[in-house]
Amino acid sequence: MASAAANSAKCIFCKIIKGEIPSHKLIETNLSYAFLDINPLARGHALVIPKYHAEKLHELPDEYLADALPVAKKIAVAQGAENYNILQNNGRIAHQFVDHVHFHVVPKPSASDEEGLVIQWPQQTPTNDELAAVLTELQGKL
Ligand code: 5GP
Ligand code: ZN
Repeated sequence: MASAAANSAKCIFCKIIKGEIPSHKLIETNLSYAFLDINPLARGHALVIPKYHAEKLHELPDEYLADALPVAKKIAVAQGAENYNILQNNGRIAHQFVDHVHFHVVPKPSASDEEGLVIQWPQQTPTNDELAAVLTELQGKL
């Protein structure tokens, strides 16, 4: 089940899918591959990757997206954490360092900043008119 529909010879996650780099595999489907993160933020931190080399989520065919989240759900259940984060980064300044789409499944075992995902959340306070302008702009592009 290790063939990738599109793959990059240089990509470490494509190499993991092909078995050229070892991994601690959790689940494999026809379209997804899930394994433990090598530098976990918490015990059980896992990655779900599509068996298709796309750098960013919007470049990935929908069938791969549809397969990935049920895999993430299974892993979250197996981790058994009451609190957890699903994280998916796109682009370097958005904290993506491996350029192959991946979903992190990260348990948050305690409120401590020492384990699990730690988030800075710079919330803005737009006016209703500003929100309406954003809505109009995006709706015009959907
Ligand atoms: P990003 O910052 O791109 O969203 O996260 C990439 C993740 O991939 C990091 O959490 C990092 O620890 C993990 N990672 C990078 N290289 C390897 C690897 O060779 N094996 C495994 N299992 N995880 C990796
Ligand atoms: Zn890849």
